[in-house]
Amino acid sequence: MLTHNLGYPRIGSKRELKKALEQYWAGKTTQKNLFQVGKKIRQDNWLLQKEANIDLIPSNDFSFYDQVLDMTLLVGAIPERYQELITEEIPITDLYFAMARGYQKGIFDLTAMEMTKWFDTNYHYIVPEFYRDQEFKLFSTKIIDEFYEAKQLGIITKPVLIGPISYLLLGKEKESGFHRIELIKNLLPVYKKIIKQVVGLGAVCIQFDEPFLGLDISPEIKAVYKEVYHEMKAEFPDIKFMITTYFEGVAHHLDVIVNDLQCDILHIDLISNPEQLEVVLEKLPKNIQLSLGVIDGRNIWKNDYHQSLQAISTAIDLRGEDQILIAPSCSLLHVPCDLDLEMKNEELSSEIKQWLSFAKQKLDELSALKQITLYPEDQNAKVSLKYNAACIENRSISELIHNPTVKERVSKLSKKDSSRGSEFPNRKRKQKALLNLPLFPTTTIGSFPQTKEIRKKRSEYKGEIISQSEYTNYIKDEIKKVITIQEKLGLDVLVHGEAERNDMVEYFGEQLNGFAFTKFGWVQSYGSRCVKPPIIYGDVSRKQAMTVFWSTYAQSLTPLPVKGMLTGPVTMLQWSFVRDDQSLSKTCLEIAMAIRDEVQDLEQSGIKIIQIDEPAMREGLPLLKENWSQYLDWAINAFKIASCVVKDQTQIHTHMCYSEFNDIIDHIALMDADVITIECSRSQMELLDVFASFKYPNDIGPGVYDIHSPRIPSPEEIVVLLNKAKQYIPEDQIWVNPDCGLKTRNWQETEKALDAMVAAAKQLRTEL
Ligand code: GLN
Ligand code: ZN
Repeated sequence: MLTHNLGYPRIGSKRELKKALEQYWAGKTTQKNLFQVGKKIRQDNWLLQKEANIDLIPSNDFSFYDQVLDMTLLVGAIPERYQELITEEIPITDLYFAMARGYQKGIFDLTAMEMTKWFDTNYHYIVPEFYRDQEFKLFSTKIIDEFYEAKQLGIITKPVLIGPISYLLLGKEKESGFHRIELIKNLLPVYKKIIKQVVGLGAVCIQFDEPFLGLDISPEIKAVYKEVYHEMKAEFPDIKFMITTYFEGVAHHLDVIVNDLQCDILHIDLISNPEQLEVVLEKLPKNIQLSLGVIDGRNIWKNDYHQSLQAISTAIDLRGEDQILIAPSCSLLHVPCDLDLEMKNEELSSEIKQWLSFAKQKLDELSALKQITLYPEDQNAKVSLKYNAACIENRSISELIHNPTVKERVSKLSKKDSSRGSEFPNRKRKQKALLNLPLFPTTTIGSFPQTKEIRKKRSEYKGEIISQSEYTNYIKDEIKKVITIQEKLGLDVLVHGEAERNDMVEYFGEQLNGFAFTKFGWVQSYGSRCVKPPIIYGDVSRKQAMTVFWSTYAQSLTPLPVKGMLTGPVTMLQWSFVRDDQSLSKTCLEIAMAIRDEVQDLEQSGIKIIQIDEPAMREGLPLLKENWSQYLDWAINAFKIASCVVKDQTQIHTHMCYSEFNDIIDHIALMDADVITIECSRSQMELLDVFASFKYPNDIGPGVYDIHSPRIPSPEEIVVLLNKAKQYIPEDQIWVNPDCGLKTRNWQETEKALDAMVAAAKQLRTEL
């Protein structure tokens, strides 16, 4: 039984790659230096895996930006607009970064390629662009360079490729009249060349990532799977093809795999879908080796050896030890590098630390599982099994995790707790009487510019350089400033500006029981961007009111309504590492209860409008459509639990900054927020079409300008947009606001843009 790994984080345990990349982009370091940093990370990673006794260590899992973009470069799928950059003078690395980030230099002004979510993770990849009759050619030497580099360290690696079918499916057609899968005939020869090259250097096993084998795929695609792997395998009969699937089970496509797929090793993800093991063991032909993904590659919990060993021994009993491999469920890209770095972090309790395992620790777990399986009588194996069992046992009964009061409250929730007193029209009437807002009410999404000074003050406060009262006074002054500015601008519904918040999840997580934070738990989100998700380890409850102090202060400064501003339960869940000892829906409900308490406190303190942001609602959608409605049911219910505690007069807003509502509009309506603000400007209001055809009954604030760009909109163009909005939805349902929060903009842009926005709303009111 061998151990193997699908991929290792490449950002560096101290984010070395991030820093080098950003310096390189800023022109502050040379390409040579960047390459050195990359090389060091690769070598460290390989040696670390070797030291952990991993039998098959991956290569080509490193990337300077994104592994899909690496494939695009490798097969020469370079969109036309970048062709001009293919010259002697411009290094290929700059071409690569141009595709990732756009390129503005001299005569060039090229836009970046599109970026999108990597399946249901928080990683984002660069979407390949495909054209009819597109040709491919071997364009980069990265994969062979890396193989060679590792070989020089004495490691014969397993090169990782995104399989040809998944690669095509990950992309997008940029012209009509064809389906990208048709390009397979042009792409396949390039894959063969790549394989030939790595085989020439001594590779004996190649990993083809084919995550689409777990998703909904058509019979046509299935047929292509059969042909492609037949054809490739025929050319390299002696090379081991490992096909890896992850994030979903493959049981529903076993027909392809069993009858048609030419591969030597199949990897399955037993974390996302443990049930598939039984079927796969029964149906998979005996000549195909099976790799069991028993260690969670997407979460930070210590593996439960007992449970993994059960799966492993079942598999071995049926197929023999030499037919089984073990591995993490997916690439370790999605977890932080090294728990050892947290040892000095005193804010993370040592009890919690012993429940955790990051990438490096997961490799040790893998080796331990192999040891225990092969040499159960070995003293070390016995010790590690026993220690593991003790940690797992401790976690299952720890008082840090289990809070009977929370569990009881959640169990007592009833239908009544997730519905408002009256239907929307009734509420709208009462809210109108209370708030007395004009038509086309203007507002913003919550945050105002997070200036350098604000960040500095916060870090001084956290570092105990300034006192609590100094910090409080500073934030109060900021609030006063933004209230005055908003009044001057003539906005109708104000916000307090969120100056006290570092991040919309962290800010709340820090004030909730059940959340913990790491110091170095960084995970790559895209390119050089990393996130440090909180860890939800236990039952969630509020320690005390979280936002009431700031919101009531802001409200005391003005007669205009100031919105209370909260992050919704689904978003908190989605952007954290979550517990694996209870269902997501249960954890979400616990968070919802904490938010509900806050909503109630805000209302009782005189706040008349409360916004609960749920930008991650869509992100949580499961990969398989058949599971969508189940998710949406509990997610929407959690939002309602959080929001439905208020009286009819109190206006609930929600905010979602994306522009895809087509397939979930009915569920969005069920959220029953009095006002929903959405991103809309880049779609020129066309996204309102789906709200119109659904006859969405509640109020909508379609974003009227793009906050991602420093560009200042004119009042005229906003008037045009609002007139367009009026064609979709009745005017008494329309709010006027930017696409999203303004924290990344500067004050000058912000004031000018909002000035234009208010002018546009006023203009529309006069036209009535
Ligand atoms: N209220 C938050 C803000 O304005 C919303 C952020 C978001 O939607 N991601 O910054
Ligand atoms: Zn937003």
